[in-house]
Amino acid sequence: MKEKHIRIRIEQCLALAKASNCPRRKFGALLLDPERNVVLMDGYNGGPRGGGHLCGGESCLRDDLGIRSGQRMEVGCHHAEMNVICNCAASGVPTKGGWILVTGEPCVLCAKLIHHAGITKVIVVGGGYAGENGVRYLREHGIGVESVEGPQDERTVDLT
Ligand SMILES: [Zn+2]
Ligand SMILES: [Zn+2]
Repeated sequence: MKEKHIRIRIEQCLALAKASNCPRRKFGALLLDPERNVVLMDGYNGGPRGGGHLCGGESCLRDDLGIRSGQRMEVGCHHAEMNVICNCAASGVPTKGGWILVTGEPCVLCAKLIHHAGITKVIVVGGGYAGENGVRYLREHGIGVESVEGPQDERTVDLT
């Protein structure tokens, strides 16, 4: 995939992230076909489809409970990568051999999904995710991880 296309997809992914209703942090993810330079599927983080109490609204349940980034992943929204892969499953789009572009480092749970979905490369808009992440897991399982410049997580400084 050419540099030019990747640049454009990053812009698309950052724009898509704005659709998230998460009050804590907004992420976007795109599944790309590296041979045809096209987007196969998209996703962003947020609450359960159709509404629910896991995410959205004024405050974040994770913040309310004082949960640190990278921990207790069952609390809070569906992650962007998780949603891309679920959208693919729901719509019959193959993930095998695709690349995923995401606006922050995937967490360990998403890294597991990415690996088993047959996605071969992860392009991360670096610094988006401040917690313990799944980058090492991805590399250990033969998935290429490439970091590109992008907006940093504003929470990095006050995350303890
Ligand atoms: Zn959320
Ligand atoms: Zn995740």
